[in-house]
Amino acid sequence: MNFSLTEQQEMFQKEVRKFAEAELTPLVDIMDKQNDFPHEIRPKLATMNLYGIPFDPEYGGAGSDYVSLVLAMEEVAKVLAPLAIHMQLGNVTCDRFNKLGTEEQKKEYMIPICEGKKVVCFCFTEPDTGSNPKMIKTTARLDGDGYVLNGTKRFITNAPFANAALIFAKDDEGDISLFLVEADRKGFSTDKKMDKLGLRGTELSDVILDDVRIPKENLLGGKGGKFDALKDAMTIGKMCLSAQCVGLMQASLDEAIRYSMHRMHFDEPIFNLQAIHWLLAEMASRLEAARWLTYRAAFLKDQGMDTIKDMAITKLFVTQTAVDVCRWGMQVHGAYGISKEYKIERLYRDAKMYELLEGTSEIQRELIVKRLPR
Ligand SMILES: Cc1cc2nc3c(=O)[nH]c(=O)nc-3n(C[C@H](O)[C@H](O)[C@H](O)COP(=O)(O)OP(=O)(O)OC[C@H]3O[C@@H](n4cnc5c(N)ncnc54)[C@H](O)[C@@H]3O)c2cc1C
Repeated sequence: MNFSLTEQQEMFQKEVRKFAEAELTPLVDIMDKQNDFPHEIRPKLATMNLYGIPFDPEYGGAGSDYVSLVLAMEEVAKVLAPLAIHMQLGNVTCDRFNKLGTEEQKKEYMIPICEGKKVVCFCFTEPDTGSNPKMIKTTARLDGDGYVLNGTKRFITNAPFANAALIFAKDDEGDISLFLVEADRKGFSTDKKMDKLGLRGTELSDVILDDVRIPKENLLGGKGGKFDALKDAMTIGKMCLSAQCVGLMQASLDEAIRYSMHRMHFDEPIFNLQAIHWLLAEMASRLEAARWLTYRAAFLKDQGMDTIKDMAITKLFVTQTAVDVCRWGMQVHGAYGISKEYKIERLYRDAKMYELLEGTSEIQRELIVKRLPR
């Protein structure tokens, strides 16, 4: 076992940390308070190669690895978690084109995604389900030399400004496949952007498909890929989300330490109280366990291993732990913790969101139990 990062990974981690602190700190209020997405950051994220970290430079990627991807997610989320979600979608959609796209589709999409010039959203969830693929109602009917898609996708990140969407839909035989739908096709529209508790500023909306006609070559990865394309894409999503939670936990611990050193109880900082020591120690130890579980998951992915169970375990533990750690950080702040003047209030709201994304905690438990040896 080797728990060290390589020199290259450490260098990249430092560069992203410096970039996030300098460039993303000024965007916090725009995203969280105004609930707006700062489009001007996209070329800067691209210059840092953050939209396509583990992909071949031939397709615009950084030619790096999954461990570097989680390091970047952690550093960005430590400053501004919703921007990490936006970046995650760049990496997840690139991954789909990389694995399932034709040479032409890879060039047409991966390069501009990595350059921050194109955004593709990833659409699984529907009004009636986000958990059960068998309940998907969106249809893709074969018609002549193409498909006609109908349905509604819900809670879709980046949808309001996406140039295209990757849509999971059922074909005439009931098989679920993945389709590429360009946003300028007749019948494609998005609904109004949602207002939400946390991860504010990521634009989230419905995607509506009303008799949208696409050519046959827009079917990615062949007909009836069953749920494999979804499960595989979700392992990367879960890994990125877990890394973002690690970033949130680190930020919460930093805030709790800073606050407790300054807040006085009689003539001593509350940092000296045993009750505060206990909270800080719990936070630090849970954070460390979550961090190494996440790095290990990325390491396994880099080895090309089947990570469905490991990612579910990681996502379940890390996202639940993030809510606990951010709550304890808030407790250290006393009543000031609920004030919007203090960063911990935003970190706690953001942490809660992660238990619901890329499969809820209940769904992760199901995935784990199905794969336990018996
Ligand atoms: C900020 C944000 C961004 C998102 N971005 C995207 C995106 O880009 N693309 C996308 O496709 N989706 C996206 N989603 C949707 C998200 O993935 C779903 O909301 C999530 O999977 C849960 O689906 P649901 O809300 O329909 O819950 P439901 O499936 O209706 O579940 C409701 C409750 O029942 C439980 N439950 C359901 N089925 C089972 C079961 N079999 N066993 C045990 N418990 C069960 C769930 O755990 C949950 O507690 C996003 C959501 C959020 C909050």
